[in-house]
Amino acid sequence: MRNKKGLLIVVSAPAGCGKDTILEAAFNLCDNLHYSVSVTTRTPRDGEQDGVHYFFKTREEFAEMLKNNELFEHTEYAGNLYGTPKSTIPEMLEAGKDVVLIIEVEGAENIKKIFPDCVLIFVLPPSLAELERRLKKRGTETGDTIKRRIDIAKIEMSFVKNYDYVIINERIEDAVAAFAAVIQAEKLTVKRGLPIIS
Ligand code: 5GP
Repeated sequence: MRNKKGLLIVVSAPAGCGKDTILEAAFNLCDNLHYSVSVTTRTPRDGEQDGVHYFFKTREEFAEMLKNNELFEHTEYAGNLYGTPKSTIPEMLEAGKDVVLIIEVEGAENIKKIFPDCVLIFVLPPSLAELERRLKKRGTETGDTIKRRIDIAKIEMSFVKNYDYVIINERIEDAVAAFAAVIQAEKLTVKRGLPIIS
């Protein structure tokens, strides 16, 4: 029997890399994965539900959470505030659940300082041209926002070297398999505890 503590998996990816599709498939594949819902001041997109995709807050409510020290980390991204609530992660890890955080590069760096044992995974698009095509196809952003997101993506990609694993999302099936393989391999590492053989 191995260490029962859950794994904290931090995933970063520029917008339009397909991380949501990869993770949706990974959640269906790996039954011990649990998503940590972030807090944001961004307006919900079509189909997004409060408490499922994000906890949608006003700037005032977000400021109140900060004041009450309720967030592990927070950042401003493309004009909106995002933060990781403190409320659930430690309990889930203690209960042996694997927790997935989907956050941008600065947040990932901060989470690594708080949870040095976490696994950092970066998802990349096959190319910038493909990223732009996917963002346009998604149709949730205007031309200006797409340009802004691509500019941010270029900056974010320079942080890849801080991560433990990088997955290029060329074919979704391969990316999902790679994601599952990373989790499986991490759980077998000696540093996470030796099996008890009796
Ligand atoms: P989106 O608006 O596309 O849902 O998210 C924009 C960016 O914010 C993405 O890179 C996403 O991973 C990141 N993000 C979402 N939640 C958090 C969070 O709690 N903390 C940080 N630092 N980034 C977050």
